[in-house]
Amino acid sequence: MTTIAVRLQAARASIDKAVTNTGRQPEHITLIAVSKAQPASSIREAYAQGQRLFGENYLQEALDKQAQLNELDIEWHFIGPIQSNKTQLIAQHFAWVHGVDRLKIAQRLNDARPAHLPPLQVCIQVNVSNEQSKSGMQPEQVAALAQAILALPRLQLRGLMAIPAPTKDTGLQHKQFKMVRELFQQLNAAGFGLDTLSMGMSDDFAIAIAEGATMIRIGTAIFGARQPKPESE
Ligand SMILES: *Cc1c(COP(=O)(O)O)cnc(C)c1O
Repeated sequence: MTTIAVRLQAARASIDKAVTNTGRQPEHITLIAVSKAQPASSIREAYAQGQRLFGENYLQEALDKQAQLNELDIEWHFIGPIQSNKTQLIAQHFAWVHGVDRLKIAQRLNDARPAHLPPLQVCIQVNVSNEQSKSGMQPEQVAALAQAILALPRLQLRGLMAIPAPTKDTGLQHKQFKMVRELFQQLNAAGFGLDTLSMGMSDDFAIAIAEGATMIRIGTAIFGARQPKPESE
């Protein structure tokens, strides 16, 4: 087996263990393999092990790899920060967008989503670390954005996404993920019908799962260390 195959298997086993500990079933968790700054050949290796969902942060890099992997049945998730001048290509080339954090971006994605594709699946990014994190909506503003997205026919609102500031304090990690889950539950109590909590990365996915994550985004633990990010983006 290749290194990526071994790491992917180990990651799946740790996910299954974390899920079972919560009393949920492994099929309740969806794994996105985060392939940013990794070559197309690495994506092929993970694909050969049955992985179908891949996450990318940098638009141009992602488009290049999508072209190289055109024949594969991959569901592409855009998980990086979204600049408004990139919304058109993102709406054309991805199935999901995780980091929607303002109405203008949602509107532009909606307007650019091609008619022949299903609605773009979106999550609202929530800022759970205040000043330590630049991106994401303040929790108290999320309901208003969710309401506005419901009126956009080419977007389907699936849930919330968060990237807590890195910390070794596991108590704080639990607290931050819990804050997102409670917001998710409040929105559902208000009738939003969300099914996705996108949270947890290589270093904290077990805690995210314990706090209710349904979709986790893992890069390093599957593909190894990344190259530095491209300078153009
Ligand atoms: C890079 C990235 C990940 C994966 O991070 P790892 O620590 O390599 O698992 C997940 N989510 C987002 C939004 C990222 O930018």
